[in-house]
Amino acid sequence: MSENKEIHEYQAEMQKVLDILVHSLYTEREIFLRELISNASDALSKVQFTALTDANLRDKDAALEIKISFNEEEKSVTIEDTGIGMSKEEIINNIGKIASSGTLNFIKDLNANDKQKVDNLIGQFGVGFYSVFMVAEKVILETCSALPDSQGWEWTSKGSGQYELRPIDKTNRGTKIKVFLKEDAHDFSSEFRLETIIKKYSNYVPFPIILKEKTVNQVKALWTLSKNEIKKEDYEEFYKQLTHDMKPPFFHQHLSIDAPIQYYALLFVPEEVTNEVLYARESTGVNLYAQRVFIQSENKNILPSYMRFIRGVVDSEDLPLNVSRENIQHNALLEKIKKSLVSRLLKELENQANSHVEKYNQFWKKFGIFLKEGVTSDFTNRTKLMELLRFNSSISDKEDDLTSLKDVVGRMRDEQKEIYYVVGPSRQAILHNPNLEYFKKNGLEVLYLYDHIDDFLMSDLREYEGKPLKSISQADIEAVKDKTTEDAKDELPKNDADAIINYFKKQLGDKVADVLESKRLVDSPCSLVNPKDGMSSHMEKMMKAMNNDFEIGKKNLEINMSHELIHNMSNLLQKDQEAPFLKEYVEQLFNNALLVEGLLENPLELLPRMYRFMEDASKYHLTH
Ligand code: ADP
Repeated sequence: MSENKEIHEYQAEMQKVLDILVHSLYTEREIFLRELISNASDALSKVQFTALTDANLRDKDAALEIKISFNEEEKSVTIEDTGIGMSKEEIINNIGKIASSGTLNFIKDLNANDKQKVDNLIGQFGVGFYSVFMVAEKVILETCSALPDSQGWEWTSKGSGQYELRPIDKTNRGTKIKVFLKEDAHDFSSEFRLETIIKKYSNYVPFPIILKEKTVNQVKALWTLSKNEIKKEDYEEFYKQLTHDMKPPFFHQHLSIDAPIQYYALLFVPEEVTNEVLYARESTGVNLYAQRVFIQSENKNILPSYMRFIRGVVDSEDLPLNVSRENIQHNALLEKIKKSLVSRLLKELENQANSHVEKYNQFWKKFGIFLKEGVTSDFTNRTKLMELLRFNSSISDKEDDLTSLKDVVGRMRDEQKEIYYVVGPSRQAILHNPNLEYFKKNGLEVLYLYDHIDDFLMSDLREYEGKPLKSISQADIEAVKDKTTEDAKDELPKNDADAIINYFKKQLGDKVADVLESKRLVDSPCSLVNPKDGMSSHMEKMMKAMNNDFEIGKKNLEINMSHELIHNMSNLLQKDQEAPFLKEYVEQLFNNALLVEGLLENPLELLPRMYRFMEDASKYHLTH
């Protein structure tokens, strides 16, 4: 039939990948076997699943297994499976083309000397099959699809430029890949070498891997084994195969639950969070099995969206095998598993938080954003999730230190009824907030929040253990007045204070919502505060950034009646109500307060007035 031979060119990018793999500096060339076995295992899973609903599959009773053989004279290794196989179209589309645009972009500026990138290419982007060309000078792949009446095909390539396709007489379903080893890779055609590699990387592949009539792997799915049978490396290797992540996972959780529903789960938290996961809408990191049969990859229903960083497998004895990929969405059993799973995961996170504080804090820095999302969306588990939240606070002088709400409450003064927080773009900016002065002076702990969702988070949570969460500009601080500092204060008498307030009101008119006496300022003469239940200025600025038509709300101006500038102003006011200087004085104080809040649209406006003040001051100094 060789006259039917067709010659195909590789897609241009594919050619580049091949060139790189052939010349790559990749050190772990042995992983080619892992990749081929993993493909064979996937093909077996697929045929197992399809057989559940399709009675007409080819070789319905064929054993689901992977056979590895080698020929020392020929210097070849062969991997054969009884999986789903491929049609001609499938060969052309799956092998010879790179489907994902992410991979295409990645490949554009890739070169073979960049070992790190080649590692990523093989790992993250799954050019799995092609890793064979690190060791192969030629590959012959024979395949026949499991669908009835399918034609067998042979695909041959030397990993450069092109591949050949021709129909063959293969009638048993599955794929057989014969690898002719390059001279520097001849050592792979050895029983000992192959067995070692299989044990190292593919021990828990859920189908028998047979080498010389002997099954060399464990076969049992890793998640069905008891924890003490499994080594840390086994978990890590499983994780790598599952995710193509080159870094070991941050931590894993292995569950075997019997009631109210039986399921196994082997779940992992990766070391890093990718943007892809961060901006995804759904959780797609879990593969679903029923009675050890692979049902679906990237299941969307088994975990809530805020747990989308979790990867792994869930397998249930109780899920019926005839559950189809379509009706799985509304499966009541799955709902129950989900409920149990979420609660177990939260429990494990709590354990981690309590017993590995450092490690948990590292986790929080990368994944905290997901838990914040969770606390505002998962009402059933809100209490548990709140215990997992971490914040920076005034208790520490380091931006990196974190505290829990529980610890904050533990440190609260007896008379303190509220948990205080302040939101700002950064710790630096927050430290300049004049409203913080009172809290600093009185040693009251304040949470420093600078995540973009924190504002929303606080107004959504409202309270923790019955203690309202209050922005420092709205907190009721009467109860925690420190007597000693109060007494030392030199406040204006009531009448004079009223006169000050009236003067500010008259000058500023509708630029402010109200003018009030401040209870929280220490070192600053005045500050702007949002009226009760208003958004914070930080939030308003973000809204404005998203929508230019957004109107920043009017604020209350609070005056520090103990401040020297206000005392001086009071004296001036008593001397001459109409003095033009007083108007400028008020204008400047108001603008300074706007500046602090980041709400002064044009800071340059401050300059002419500042120069006038300096002129006056210098004249004064010259005459005194
Ligand atoms: P990945 O496995 O990450 O998809 P590969 O390059 O390893 O990438 O494989 C590409 C595709 O080729 C697979 O998704 C699968 O559709 C097909 N394939 C590879 N090996 C086999 C096999 N042994 N049996 C059936 N299909 C296979």
